Amino acid sequence: MANSKQETTRNAKRSCSELELSDLESSAQHFERWFIIPDAHSDMPLSKLSPFVIEKAIKCSVGTVSTVKRMRSGDLLIEAASAAQGKCISILTSLANTAITVSAHRTLNTSKGVIKCRELIDCDKAEILEELRTQVVSDINNIMVKGNDGVRRNTNTFIVTFRLPTLPKHIKIGYLRVPVAVYIPNLLRCFKCQRFAHGQKVCRREVVCAKCGQTGHSDRDCRNEAKCPNCSGSHSAFSRDCPKWIQEKQVQIIKAEKGVSFPEARRLASSGYTTSSTSQTHSMAAVIKQINKAFPSLDCLFALSTHRQDSLG
Ligand SMILES: [Zn+2]
Ligand SMILES: [Zn+2]
Ligand SMILES: [Zn+2]
Repeated sequence: MANSKQETTRNAKRSCSELELSDLESSAQHFERWFIIPDAHSDMPLSKLSPFVIEKAIKCSVGTVSTVKRMRSGDLLIEAASAAQGKCISILTSLANTAITVSAHRTLNTSKGVIKCRELIDCDKAEILEELRTQVVSDINNIMVKGNDGVRRNTNTFIVTFRLPTLPKHIKIGYLRVPVAVYIPNLLRCFKCQRFAHGQKVCRREVVCAKCGQTGHSDRDCRNEAKCPNCSGSHSAFSRDCPKWIQEKQVQIIKAEKGVSFPEARRLASSGYTTSSTSQTHSMAAVIKQINKAFPSLDCLFALSTHRQDSLG
């Protein structure tokens, strides 16, 4: 009995050191990668310099970087090739004798994942954030569901935001090592113009019928034949069979999985890049569907969720 206890302790010690090692290894791959250098309105703005001068100045200051792009605003977007180079870029104060300020890109350096952890359900959010600060977690939100009685309940599913461009595979929650799945946000379709990737609040286009695709009326009383405004197929704009919807969803999955911008994800999708078949991906709709299926037994959900491959949701 005593021997088996000793054995258990030894095994626990071994797996602990292995765990720390693998966590260290994986954290080395995650670093702030994208930086913005605003086109300062000084006597010598960066946009007035030739691309040759800018390329040489960057190379002299920090070495060869992965990407340099000029954004529509005129600002420079730089992708660091390594963690050390990222640090060098972040402290740059001048480029080609022009004073600059560098900041980390607001969204490209963050990633969102889904975790299942019933042990977190009763923890305070401030406590969780404080404890996970060293793993660069900037936000965590519980998915809540409404039961048949109308009461909202917490679930064991959390959406975690990391200040990292690439999602870590695991997160340490105290003594637990919890797998992190890619979180894919729902694909937005504008209820006004029916196009994708924006909401009706910001839409300046004409009203388009979701059923027949014609302008000037909504689909509520429409008796016309179905014609999709996005692909002209014989289905409504909200059909999940719409090839345009499937294409946009694919772009969104690539964006989440690869941690790249929308234009880059579109480029990858059109060049035939396919999403990882082994990584778990979770859209909000799929997460909710999964919870509803398992509700009200949270234990059942916990067991169900960790090994399931989601549909495109
Ligand atoms: Zn719109
Ligand atoms: Zn119509
Ligand atoms: Zn369509």
